[in-house]
Amino acid sequence: MKAAVLEKYKEFKVKDIPAPQVKEHEVLVEVRFASICGTDQHIFAGDFHPRTQTPLIPGHEFAGVVEEIGSRVDGFNIGERVAIDPIVWCGECPACKAGHVPACEKLRLIGVDMDGGFAQKITVPPAMLYKVPESVSHEHAALVEVYAIGFHACKRAGVKSGDRVAIFGGGKIGQCVMQAARTKTNDKMFVVDIVEGRLDMIRASYPDVRTINAKKEDPVQVIKEETGGHGVDVAIEAVGHHAELPGRVNPVRGCVQSIRGGGSVCVLGLEDEPAPVVFKELIWKEAKIVASRVSHGEFDEAIHHLANGNLKPDAVISTVVFIDDIRQAFVLLEEDPSKYLKILLHINS
Ligand SMILES: [Zn+2]
Ligand SMILES: [Zn+2]
Repeated sequence: MKAAVLEKYKEFKVKDIPAPQVKEHEVLVEVRFASICGTDQHIFAGDFHPRTQTPLIPGHEFAGVVEEIGSRVDGFNIGERVAIDPIVWCGECPACKAGHVPACEKLRLIGVDMDGGFAQKITVPPAMLYKVPESVSHEHAALVEVYAIGFHACKRAGVKSGDRVAIFGGGKIGQCVMQAARTKTNDKMFVVDIVEGRLDMIRASYPDVRTINAKKEDPVQVIKEETGGHGVDVAIEAVGHHAELPGRVNPVRGCVQSIRGGGSVCVLGLEDEPAPVVFKELIWKEAKIVASRVSHGEFDEAIHHLANGNLKPDAVISTVVFIDDIRQAFVLLEEDPSKYLKILLHINS
């Protein structure tokens, strides 16, 4: 089978390797499309070392069809469409026992900690598979995982009908969070970014969302003004860095300043540097900050909303390239983030 192997950091080789053999408790999936995540870009650059080890086949956002079923697996049919939840947890640590699977002490991901979906075939335990109806295209099925992250963030933040929501960060994750939040509330929504191209994408796909370019307008001020001076019910941080623009606070503090009294902030952007928050601003609002990591239990919700046309997957797919051109896809994402959001890899026809 063909696979995109990261031989060493910054060096993909697309090559023929032996296809995995299905074991009795596994299902063999023929991957149709995979989506490139920001995490994949970090893995590619070597930022996830030593957690990631080369050679590695990345890919944790992917979907395909069932090709072979292990002798002890029930409930699946050859040819069925499936999306794969890439998370492997231990089930025994305190976090797992408390139901906080994303915080498992031994959490591992397909495509990060072990070989993933940038390959034509992969074997997985059936518990990781979610059936996708035929009404969802193979391309869109590859986005189920990233939408599940958006729905998980909404759940952690408690987004509900009638809520006003601000999302700091209009990149891959921010836009999926925005689309997920839009299935829950039709009220005022704001998305903040500094890349005008990303805000253009949002204006085209969700014209009712108020976009804010933080280089041109002060997001906190705009959000306050346009919510009658009160602030939003929920602010979600999906920026992933603490950098402050002149005259602006960092994105996490911006979220804290943008919510109403008793509101909530949800953070999911990853970075290693501290993002200073003035806790008095949080205490005066008696507000809360929650965190969100990957997803747990939101695959079916994402599939349901894709099948019902409540999401706009084509608005986040910038282009589709064949797996053979994976190097070019990573170059495009690196060099032109204003134009390229999600790039899909066409793995199998
Ligand atoms: Zn991802
Ligand atoms: Zn665990």
